Amino acid sequence: MSEPTDALHTFQLQRAGVRGVIARLDHAWAEIRAQASLPPPVARQLGESLAASALFAGALKFEGSLSIHLRNAGALRLMFAECTHDGHLRGIARVDEGPAASAVDLHDPRARLAITIENARTETRYQGLVPVEADQLSTAFEGYFERSEQLPTRIVLAERNGRCAGIMLQLIAGSPEASAPLDSDGWNRAGHLLATLTAQELLELPVETLLLRLFHEEGVLLQPARPLRFRCSCSRQRVLGMLQALGPEESVASLTEDGHMEVTCEFCNRIYRIDRIDVASLFAGRPLAPASDQAH
Ligand SMILES: [Zn+2]
Repeated sequence: MSEPTDALHTFQLQRAGVRGVIARLDHAWAEIRAQASLPPPVARQLGESLAASALFAGALKFEGSLSIHLRNAGALRLMFAECTHDGHLRGIARVDEGPAASAVDLHDPRARLAITIENARTETRYQGLVPVEADQLSTAFEGYFERSEQLPTRIVLAERNGRCAGIMLQLIAGSPEASAPLDSDGWNRAGHLLATLTAQELLELPVETLLLRLFHEEGVLLQPARPLRFRCSCSRQRVLGMLQALGPEESVASLTEDGHMEVTCEFCNRIYRIDRIDVASLFAGRPLAPASDQAH
């Protein structure tokens, strides 16, 4: 049996001058998948993207989140996977209805893939577009890091049997982070060793066993694991903020005849019940059209 997962493991290969990270999701993936029934190829993309978002968010140096958006990849109309700096994940996928509903096509010319980083403190946002001309997301992400950050990167992602996982290697040799003298062949060696990793090993082997099996001659230094979990950042406050942005007319129009509305969060299915009193106090001081005002 394999160990329980839902953790982020960072490590260094001291001899090769490479840093790495492994993300594994088990319970969190089960909870996210339970929000909607997804055809297996779509679930695979979402699981792999969640693992990737955890790999990338592990490097955030501030309070915030990293998200991956994919649009219009064949029948996959929309996919979103997000991980915060403290390991809270959420995700969603929407597919077009019809017989081809399971066909995910990354070569679709309409496909758009983006990585967004949000800093919660400064409320700033950076978005990078990732060219998707690839058979799999991992290849697209590798190209993105190599082009945008000149950082040699190898990524393997997998989703199967209720689990998803990812591993990423990046070259640090020659940088101040490197603890060993420059080993000119270290990066190639690490890449060749990683290429022997199977999806099953990535998903199921205990992390220490996996790292020692692959990299036993590279001086593996494994840091303590950090937990990952499913947690949605929705709140009543955010729903009210959304209504405020819609404005008083639209908010009132969304109320039913008996004066309430139910807003369901599409990430966690939580239902927020908003009534006329909430809407009235949101726009206090502004006239509310047709009011049967029983607010007090
Ligand atoms: Zn939610």
